[in-house]
Amino acid sequence: MKIVLIALDSLRKDRVSPYNKSIDFTSNLEELSDQSIVYNNAIAQSCWSLPSHVSVLTGKYPWQHRSTQKKPFVDDDIKLISEELRDKGYITSAVHNNTWLIPITGAMRGFDELHTLQNQTKYLKNAWSRLQSSKLLRMLRKKLILFQSKMNLKKTIGEETDFSNQLDKTKNFLEKNKNTDDFFLYVNLVSCHYPYNPPEKYKEKHNVKKDINDLSSRPLEYGGEIKDQEKEELNKLYNAEVDFLDHNLGKIIEKFKEEDIYDESLIIVFSDHGELLGEQNKFGHHFSTHKHLINVPLIIKNPDNRSCRVEDVTELREIYYKVLNNAGIELKDSNKFVKGAACGMYEEPVIYDAKISGNGKNICNSSFYMGTKNKIYRSENQLEFIDKIHSKLAPDQISSSELLNLLKIR
Ligand SMILES: [Zn+2]
Repeated sequence: MKIVLIALDSLRKDRVSPYNKSIDFTSNLEELSDQSIVYNNAIAQSCWSLPSHVSVLTGKYPWQHRSTQKKPFVDDDIKLISEELRDKGYITSAVHNNTWLIPITGAMRGFDELHTLQNQTKYLKNAWSRLQSSKLLRMLRKKLILFQSKMNLKKTIGEETDFSNQLDKTKNFLEKNKNTDDFFLYVNLVSCHYPYNPPEKYKEKHNVKKDINDLSSRPLEYGGEIKDQEKEELNKLYNAEVDFLDHNLGKIIEKFKEEDIYDESLIIVFSDHGELLGEQNKFGHHFSTHKHLINVPLIIKNPDNRSCRVEDVTELREIYYKVLNNAGIELKDSNKFVKGAACGMYEEPVIYDAKISGNGKNICNSSFYMGTKNKIYRSENQLEFIDKIHSKLAPDQISSSELLNLLKIR
């Protein structure tokens, strides 16, 4: 089967017309959604790229795969969806500019072709896995990852969003593999990620008056008051990025149609987390479980082009199981998807993050969050508690009833 996973990084659900009829600048996503299953209550497993993506790529919760701030890379013994598919004979390729999904974090294992900010050389191919054989080496790997992520982010600041390179690589892949029965393509379009710098044409269209990228001099995501006028400009800039994002998504879908492989393909479009634009005086993501961060777009076009709406809470980690199921890959019993296995209640998905330091002080504790369909809330006191669970039991050993009992203590 031809499978493509398209991440629209940091895209808010309320800025796209399949979820908000008042939006008039996402016609390509809307057209796709008319032939797709649209999930109204999709929940991301974390509010930032790495843990959220690793949940999608492994089917596990962050407290199971443990790729969080504390250890920003994927352990070698965790098998990614790309590795499962490659072992099954799939051609695999990844195209994107996300600063966390690079070879050193291990999140790009299993891809034959890699077009990312850090490219794989054959000399470095297995180097990263060697950086986890001791505590010291793991620490070194973490430092290297944080340094590289910062450098990569710096590279993009001030630069106008440009997808031409990713579009070319994606189109080339589709052209080259249109006659291949089985391929897995992962694309991530990172334009709605702060700082926003859409092309001039889109700034004009959205009436952006002032460049508010100087907000970046303030503590990102959690600092100070944001004035109403700044919020307004932030929103306009963000919308301009969404508009440009939709235009580029349209180009990718167009290529599927042009190569006559649209109908037969499984196309999964999702956002790994949303973005705050002044709510609670925050912008960007991280440090919050606000609904605009956690309740994300998820649109799946199956080969039958069947369309419907799903109201049930759906976790992004379910993508892993859907893809493998479609590819006819049998999972071992211990890896099978069980509704609500991790938290005991399917209706209450779990997201987890770790201790984060910002501006020299801890700005939030290790985070364990519970959410329901209508209400996402944060449970501060739960956080240390989950760490205690980790030291007592390996996460996979916690049965749903045990966890359920522990959660009742709240
Ligand atoms: Zn992200």
